[in-house]
Amino acid sequence: HILVVGSLNMDLVVQTPRHPQPGETLLGGPFATVPGGKGANQAVAAARLGAPIVMIGCTGDDRFGEELRQGLAADQIGINHIAVTSEAATGIALIAVDATGQNSIIVAPGANALLQPEDLQATEALFRTAAVLLVQLETPVATVTEALSLARRYRVPTLLNPAPAQPLGREILGMVDYLIPNEHEVGLLSGGEDRPAEAARQLRAQGVGSVIVTLGSAGALVVDQAGATAIAPFRVEAVDTTAAGDAFAGAFAVALYEGLSPREAAIWGAAAGAITVTRAGAQPALPRRAEVEALVAA
Ligand code: ADP
Repeated sequence: HILVVGSLNMDLVVQTPRHPQPGETLLGGPFATVPGGKGANQAVAAARLGAPIVMIGCTGDDRFGEELRQGLAADQIGINHIAVTSEAATGIALIAVDATGQNSIIVAPGANALLQPEDLQATEALFRTAAVLLVQLETPVATVTEALSLARRYRVPTLLNPAPAQPLGREILGMVDYLIPNEHEVGLLSGGEDRPAEAARQLRAQGVGSVIVTLGSAGALVVDQAGATAIAPFRVEAVDTTAAGDAFAGAFAVALYEGLSPREAAIWGAAAGAITVTRAGAQPALPRRAEVEALVAA
């Protein structure tokens, strides 16, 4: 299986004519609750491409948590190791979308912040039997570090999508086989280098195996021991870029799981990302295998 350790959030999305000033109240448009969270999104992206997925995470003992776990189960994801805590509410993201499509987002991590390294030690067998580990940064860094070191212990290839961006030390970078940042994240991780290929090379010098930089509508860049290879974007009409990076990471993980090369995997990632931006929301927008195969073959 592919093991995903990460966040589950309910996205609370409201349309607004513009973003409010501090102290101001605006009348918005329609409201929707949409399953999200980078960990859960990537698990769903991978599951819809047909790979067996197990997720480790933490929700509150509340209706959002129940809905999120049932949604993952409906996508055939193993949810038995998603903890349910009474100490915090399920994570949420408050998302306002203005008339131009610009988002402003506040994330309340809630139960995601309670996923501890010890929780992973209790599930060590899942690491021993995993084919690929996929992690992000919406759970505590100590937990991400523990996940990477458990994977290392059992020689499981590791993928880190370093989002939301934060500086990481060599201790973590040295345990990452495939780092999948976007343009902003790779710049921040490298300490301010604004050329993605150069930033990626610096991260490899700090111990990362391969770096796959996602470049939005410009596609992606694979930087490994063979040098830098550009992955062309698929041309689509973008309506909502939410979860494009999650679709990329999930599809990349499945392609590696199936034995494809990192370059081929990045093409799958780019196709999944491109389809995702043509639809609204996070998990509802993630494509199924037939759609990705059709686009890759086109
Ligand atoms: P993030 O959502 O993490 O910022 P990106 O915006 O880089 O990630 O998107 C991830 C991937 O999705 C890109 O590498 C690209 O392949 C695909 N993608 C994103 N936006 C578009 C777009 N407008 N047209 C085509 N492909 C896109």
